[in-house]
Amino acid sequence: MASIDLALSEEQRALRAGVLEICKRYPGEYWRDLDARREYPEKFVTELTEAGYLAALIPQEYGGAGLGIGEGGLILESINYSGGNAGACHAQMYIMGTVLRHGSEAQKREYLPKIATGALRLQAFGVTEPNSGSDTTKLQTTAIRTGDRYVVNGQKIFISRVLQSDLMLLLARTTPVDRVKRKTDGLSVFLIDIRDLKGFEVRPLRMMMNHSTNALFFDNVEIPVESLIGEEGRGFHYILDGMNAERILVASDSLGDARWFIEKAVAYSNQRVIFGRPIGANQGVQFAIARAHISTDAAQLMRDKAAALFDAGQPCGGEANMAKYLGAEAAWEAGNACIDCHGGYGYAEEYDVERKFRECRLYKTAPVNNNLVLAYVGEHVLGMPRSY
Ligand SMILES: Cc1cc2nc3c(=O)[nH]c(=O)nc-3n(C[C@H](O)[C@H](O)[C@H](O)COP(=O)(O)OP(=O)(O)OC[C@H]3O[C@@H](n4cnc5c(N)ncnc54)[C@H](O)[C@@H]3O)c2cc1C
Repeated sequence: MASIDLALSEEQRALRAGVLEICKRYPGEYWRDLDARREYPEKFVTELTEAGYLAALIPQEYGGAGLGIGEGGLILESINYSGGNAGACHAQMYIMGTVLRHGSEAQKREYLPKIATGALRLQAFGVTEPNSGSDTTKLQTTAIRTGDRYVVNGQKIFISRVLQSDLMLLLARTTPVDRVKRKTDGLSVFLIDIRDLKGFEVRPLRMMMNHSTNALFFDNVEIPVESLIGEEGRGFHYILDGMNAERILVASDSLGDARWFIEKAVAYSNQRVIFGRPIGANQGVQFAIARAHISTDAAQLMRDKAAALFDAGQPCGGEANMAKYLGAEAAWEAGNACIDCHGGYGYAEEYDVERKFRECRLYKTAPVNNNLVLAYVGEHVLGMPRSY
């Protein structure tokens, strides 16, 4: 049976302290400046990679630290708690799982050690399309086998970190949907080298927050057959397999955000004096922050439960989804309490509150929107009819 430790172990405390030490060198000014210019935190990601933190989940035999998802989550949570944005690098942790579980030994030996050292970056994951959105099995990008190549045609939207990545995990249809038994069949996943790929166009999108997000266009892009991960036509199932890790890690991003907001809100409310007393003495201010703290602690318990189950190899679909939902909602609640108690200053860039407010909002929508999490829980946890 999996069990949850309510306190961090000595190793986990050291891990957290190590990450926070790096984060100290990247204060609010660093993230604020990049946010204004919509530039990637290259220096921060490089330092984190060189220190081995982004290889936490890669097994030791492939050059990583061989840690569990609980530790992966702790790393991301610490980055966001420090005021930074782990969204710049979190994807490598969950994308890599698909290669690890379903890649051939040759692919693992070829890529994982290089990803571990930072010689190669795998930060891009191409799933979403303009015409299919959350309905992934309807995606229209095709990869057609011709000899020793696949020829890829189609479009993707909102694909992050493509210009900062060497490799991308791509989901494309290899068998038309009308020729498969189930619509979840006939999709395949590829690990492709996107450096100097002919026919591949990347158009950066200016988003609400600094997330290096793009529209992608594939025009007869040729990729070698060796890029296929696992069996042709099984891609959707492989991606699904990685969803629990993704949910737990994203919940961790949100928990870090929530803790940052709460700490900021408490400090500000205790020192800001209006009407002759600290604003935090007003229930209207204090209770909103206390409620956000309660939501955050509850979300953390669910994240820890999901991580413990995941690391023990037990089913955790319900818990991982609930953790992602609770985390995103707790961060949003904490963000609102924090921006409210800061009054006008909450909107001033130099306080970082408005930046974190924009950043934390994403996780209610991506990588899966919270409505679809509710649909998952309704159908798979509670046994209700499929709602879509
Ligand atoms: C900044 C950013 C970065 C992203 N990065 C990536 C990335 O790197 N790779 C990638 O593949 N994708 C990425 N995405 C895409 C993201 O995962 C999608 O936006 C998301 O999955 C929803 O797809 P959609 O935007 O087409 O919304 P739609 O599918 O059109 O849904 C719109 C809204 O309708 C509601 N809805 C839809 N269907 C249902 C239903 N059945 N029941 C109830 N409500 C429903 C939901 O509230 C949903 O938010 C990113 C998005 C953003 C904003």
